[in-house]
Amino acid sequence: MEYHFNTLIIGGGPSGSSCGITLLKHGHDCCIVERSTFPRVKLCAGLFTHKSQECLKSILGPNVYTEVMRKSLMSQESVFSLYKGMQPLVSCNLQKEDNQPTSLRYTDCRISLVNRPVLDDLLVKNFVSLGGILLDNDAVKDIDFAKKTAILASGRTITYEHLVAADGANSITERALAAYDKTFVKKDKSALCIEINVDKDDVDVTGVNIYFDIVKGSYAWAFAKGEKVCIGLVKLPWQENTDVQHTMLDFCSRLGVRNMEKYPLRGAMLPFGNIMPRPVWNDNVFFVGDAAGLVEPLTGEGIYYALQSGQYAGESIVNGGTDSYIDKVAYLHGLIKKGRYYQSLLEMKLPSRFFFRHAPRNGRFISYFYLTQIEHATLDPFWKIIWKYKRKK
Ligand SMILES: Cc1cc2nc3c(=O)[nH]c(=O)nc-3n(C[C@H](O)[C@H](O)[C@H](O)COP(=O)(O)OP(=O)(O)OC[C@H]3O[C@@H](n4cnc5c(N)ncnc54)[C@H](O)[C@@H]3O)c2cc1C
Repeated sequence: MEYHFNTLIIGGGPSGSSCGITLLKHGHDCCIVERSTFPRVKLCAGLFTHKSQECLKSILGPNVYTEVMRKSLMSQESVFSLYKGMQPLVSCNLQKEDNQPTSLRYTDCRISLVNRPVLDDLLVKNFVSLGGILLDNDAVKDIDFAKKTAILASGRTITYEHLVAADGANSITERALAAYDKTFVKKDKSALCIEINVDKDDVDVTGVNIYFDIVKGSYAWAFAKGEKVCIGLVKLPWQENTDVQHTMLDFCSRLGVRNMEKYPLRGAMLPFGNIMPRPVWNDNVFFVGDAAGLVEPLTGEGIYYALQSGQYAGESIVNGGTDSYIDKVAYLHGLIKKGRYYQSLLEMKLPSRFFFRHAPRNGRFISYFYLTQIEHATLDPFWKIIWKYKRKK
């Protein structure tokens, strides 16, 4: 069977849905091909920052946004704790009056954690309710870029004018394009994340906790979310000698996880600041979200970048092509490069020593940094963040 759509979107995660919803709202026909059926399993700690919420609101409109948040939000925390290994380093309270930068006018200084399978399911349902075509349980197997045709596992073929690669870290579009056009530059190797969701009766963890030095130069996390505690860690691509399974099992045992046999380890690739330098090809192929390497490496935050790049790609298809997409994505690249800079400092001996020595006495600055640079986002250099913080004090 053969189909034709103005835009074919490969992948129904947040980047694909956000692009599809944006296109439909502008009256453009499009189709999402998704290899799973929703709700699908998705490894994710579920950190959903203020900037992700604002972006989602602008994609869905305020009423649908409120409904989606009501159904997918699992918990909100105002305190987060940092550890060096298993030793407590500092606890940061985001709601302390003097952490809140007046320039940004926060109304809610809490960390929001969402249920990813539920969130993704609701986004795809919104796409369908607007008239979008979802071909789920069917994967794109090959793409003929010359004929603008995708071949699906079921044997269906789809011709398109625009192609949006929203197919995640191991993007088939990226691989197919690199084989077709040798000048196309792929993103670098991704990091490996391991994660489990433990029943809250099986581990004594509360709140949002980040553990440095469980994996050298990287971090692990334990986030209490409703009935579950999400535990995970990141191994960076160049940490080849780390036995990630053993490290994760050791971390879980140090956290005191009971009945560990109930929780098989699951892994997923995550681009960790390794952006695709030019996330477009010719005038009709757009890479968005993880497929374009849009993940901020200090926190591993990718949902915001997926939603935002999907929206940008949709708007660029409507308004005139790849150049406007590159211009808009440059801002996301700026945020990610800044995150990569901070993350690389944590891998270096002296800066990390400095951080571990001074963090315990500077919880308020860390809260301020988290609120301004992660929950919200600015391209401010470090000296300016300190200057604004001092001025506020
Ligand atoms: C362990 C872990 C924890 C994380 N925690 C957070 C967090 O707390 N906060 C945060 O903001 N981000 C987090 N992230 C990152 C975030 O999950 C991703 O950045 C985000 O999912 C990217 O969205 P996406 O739509 O680009 O890709 P995805 O969500 O990966 O969606 C891609 C979709 O494409 C489909 N697909 C792939 N290939 C094909 C094909 N050939 N044909 C059809 N469909 C295909 C897949 O089935 C999938 O549904 C985490 C990631 C991991 C791995």
